[in-house]
Amino acid sequence: MECFSLLRTDVPALIDHLGAFGEVVAPHAKGDVSYSFETVGDSSLVVLDYNRTLLPLKKEFLPPVEKLVSFSLNDLTSTPVEIPIEPKVYFAIHSYEMQSILRLDHSMLSGNVESNYLKRRTKSRFVGISFTPDEFHFSESVGIAIEDMEGFDLFLNEVDGDYQLYVLTENGRLLIHGFNKLKTAEPEIVEGREFKTKIRYHYNRLPRVFQYAYHSDVWAEVASRCVSCGACNLTCPTCFCFDVNDEVTITAEDGKRQRSWDSCMLSTFAEVAGGENFRENTINRTRHRLYRKFKYITDEEGLPWCVGCGRCTAFCPAGISLPEIVNDLIHEDEQAQLHQRVSV
Ligand code: SF4
Ligand code: SF4
Repeated sequence: MECFSLLRTDVPALIDHLGAFGEVVAPHAKGDVSYSFETVGDSSLVVLDYNRTLLPLKKEFLPPVEKLVSFSLNDLTSTPVEIPIEPKVYFAIHSYEMQSILRLDHSMLSGNVESNYLKRRTKSRFVGISFTPDEFHFSESVGIAIEDMEGFDLFLNEVDGDYQLYVLTENGRLLIHGFNKLKTAEPEIVEGREFKTKIRYHYNRLPRVFQYAYHSDVWAEVASRCVSCGACNLTCPTCFCFDVNDEVTITAEDGKRQRSWDSCMLSTFAEVAGGENFRENTINRTRHRLYRKFKYITDEEGLPWCVGCGRCTAFCPAGISLPEIVNDLIHEDEQAQLHQRVSV
């Protein structure tokens, strides 16, 4: 792994250089407090110090609304939408975001491969960047360090206001080929980027807590505050549920089939024909959301399907905190075990 020093003032030149490979997508400011991944037009507008974007990077690979097929009712034909395979560089990506893409890869490419996702993913390159955790980040608690470089081609680690650039793959080496503002450097360890929010147990212990948490009182307490808006799912980088519907034009001659992100926190999510709803109340929906992150997939894959980005907490209108829920379950589990020991 090679390491170079890069001045902060030279980062826009690096972004321009990466543009020779393909479209560059990077964080931009939206208003005073919000950020969004957007295609770079002017490299000086890219924001390097951001906490999190509202929508995760998954929107690039699994768009919020996506047309799949056009059809004609006149001649009963259908035409799938072709997705071009285009080179793109995703720049200034945090480690938890990259880990969410690796988890999405598993969700979309295992078994029946989701071909639209695969085409968008094929020529993607990733340049990571370190970040300073705010009160909502807790990725360290789910095993993702700030400097976790897995999945990246290049990684920028901030040191005293400038950067160390790590070259992690052959693709990364190709990306910086010909860029002459780098100087060879020794890797440095950066101290003091502490997480303020933590889950109290190592994530390996959480499946056991969830094994006994199904009938916990915590679900009802959380559900009593939840307004079932679905924002937690719609901003989550590892949620991948979508709905599919057909729209026919007013002349009933043609139409389109499209899919759009869905949310298991919405009351209609588990509704089926005939009016039955398998998760009619908020308690069931809240529990399901957390079990999807810490139990069901985790039992199979050994990893939490939460990457600790903090979006579901930061953007929840009811102030519901995911790490608080998990810590409450841990507390309840400890109390139950203590009670058991005393009874024996
Ligand atoms: S964002 Fe908050 S209020 Fe909305 S569904 Fe999720 S937990 Fe409930
Ligand atoms: S569950 Fe919340 S904290 Fe975890 S990845 Fe999803 S949005 Fe981020």
